Amino acid sequence: MTTSEINRIIIIGAGQAGAETAQRLRQGGFKGDITLIGEEPCAPYQRPPLSKKYLLGELPLERLLLRPASHYAEEHIVFQSPVKAVWIDRANKRVRIEGGRELPYDALVLATGARPRKLSLVGADLEGVHTFRTAADADAIRPRFVPGAKLIVIGAGYIGLEVAAVGRQLGLDVTVVETAVRPLARVTSPEVAGFFLDEHTRQGVRFVLGGQPAVIKGTDRVTGVALIDGGELPADLVIAGIGVNPDTALAEQCGLKVENGILTDAECRTSDPNIFAIGDVASRPMLHYGNRIARLESVHNAVEGAKIVAATILGQKQAVEAPWFWSDQYDLKLQIAGLFQGYDHVAFRGVMADRSFAAFYYKDGKLIAVDAVNRPAEYLGAKMLIQTGRSLPPEVITDESRPMKELVASAR
Ligand code: NAP
Repeated sequence: MTTSEINRIIIIGAGQAGAETAQRLRQGGFKGDITLIGEEPCAPYQRPPLSKKYLLGELPLERLLLRPASHYAEEHIVFQSPVKAVWIDRANKRVRIEGGRELPYDALVLATGARPRKLSLVGADLEGVHTFRTAADADAIRPRFVPGAKLIVIGAGYIGLEVAAVGRQLGLDVTVVETAVRPLARVTSPEVAGFFLDEHTRQGVRFVLGGQPAVIKGTDRVTGVALIDGGELPADLVIAGIGVNPDTALAEQCGLKVENGILTDAECRTSDPNIFAIGDVASRPMLHYGNRIARLESVHNAVEGAKIVAATILGQKQAVEAPWFWSDQYDLKLQIAGLFQGYDHVAFRGVMADRSFAAFYYKDGKLIAVDAVNRPAEYLGAKMLIQTGRSLPPEVITDESRPMKELVASAR
C-alpha cells in the first residue's frame, strides 16, 4: 500500500486517539474519505477530567469535547455514532457495522481503547456498583456523590485515588480497598506511593491495603462489601477502578497479532500492513527504552499514535516524545515523564513534607523517569533529558542550589 493508493480511511474508535487521527489527517492535507466510528452517543471528548473536575461538577461535557460536534461535518469527516463495528474482512478490506452495512477501506485504524475490568464477585451487578471510564459512567455516579454517602473504592490506581480525592472534596465517607500492600503499585515507586497514601489519609480516606473484596452485599442496591478476611464495610456506592483490558475483540476476530494489546511496529502498523492500531489498545516499541514493547494507557500515547499514523499515511516522518502522564489529586499535580519500571536507584530533589518534590529514577546510572509533585520545572527538565538520551548524576540533579534549567543545559 503506498500513500497515493489510500483514498478511504476508516477509524474504529472515537476516543482521543481516533478523533485526533481524523483531525491530523485533514490538517496534513489528506483529501480522501475519512469515516470515524464511535460507540458512545456524543462527539469525541477528553476522558481525564471525568475523574477530576467533571465529577466535581466544575466542568460540563461541552467543555470536554475535543472539538465542537459541528466540526466533523465541516472537515468532511463522516462521524458515525453511536455505531458499533462488528466484523473486519481483511481479504476484501471491509468493515461491517451493526445492522449489516459494510464499509470499504484502503487503510483502517483501530483505536478501540480499553474496557474497565469488572468485579467478578457475587453482587457485582447490584445497583450502586460502578466502573468508571466514560462520561455516562461519571453521570451515573455523580448524583450519588453527596456529603455523608459511604463510598467504597476498589483498587488504588489512578482511577481509585482520583475518585477518592473528589469524594473527600465533596464530603463523602471514603474507603479504598486495594489488593496490593500500597497504592499506585503499577505506576510508581513505594516512596511516592507512600506520599500519596499519607496525603489521602490526612484528607480522611481510609485504606484497606492487602484487602480483597469477597462479596458485594445488598438486595436491590449495594449496602456493603464483605472482605475475604471476614470484615465488612458498609456502602452506599462502590466504584471499581481495578484496571482495564485492551479491547482487542475485532483484531482477534480478523487474525491480527495480539500480545497484551494489538502488536504494532514503530509506525503503528499491525501484522496487516493496511491496518494500524493506536492508543490504549496497541503495544508498540518504545524508542527511548531500547525499543521494548509496551502498551501505554495515556493521553500522550493516544495523541502520539494519531500523529504517527497520520504522518505515515501522508508519507511523512513523526518525531517521538518520551512518554508522559499526569494525575491531579486535591491540590497535588503529579507529572510523570518516562517509564520507571526496572529502576535501580531513586533520587529526590526537594522533600515530601513540603508537598513539592521530584523523584528521579535511574537504571545503570542513567535517568529513565521522573515523578514530579507540584514541580513543573523538574518534570520538563527530566522529560527533555530522557528524550534527548542525556542524563545527570543523582548528586547533581538533587542539588537544589542550582535551578533545574541550568542543570539540564549542562547535561550530556
Ligand atoms: P490501574 O492503574 O491498573 O489500577 C488498578 C488497581 O486496582 C491496581 O493497583 C490493582 O492491583 C488493583 N486491583 C485489581 N483488582 C483488584 C481487586 N479485585 N480488589 C482490589 N484491588 C484490585 O487502573 P485504574 O486505576 O482502574 O485506571 C484505569 C485506566 O484509566 C488506566 O489505563 C489508567 O492509566 C487510566 N487513568 C489514568 C489516569 C491518569 O493518568 N491520571 C487517571 C484515571 C485513569 P494489581 O495491579 O495488583 O491487580
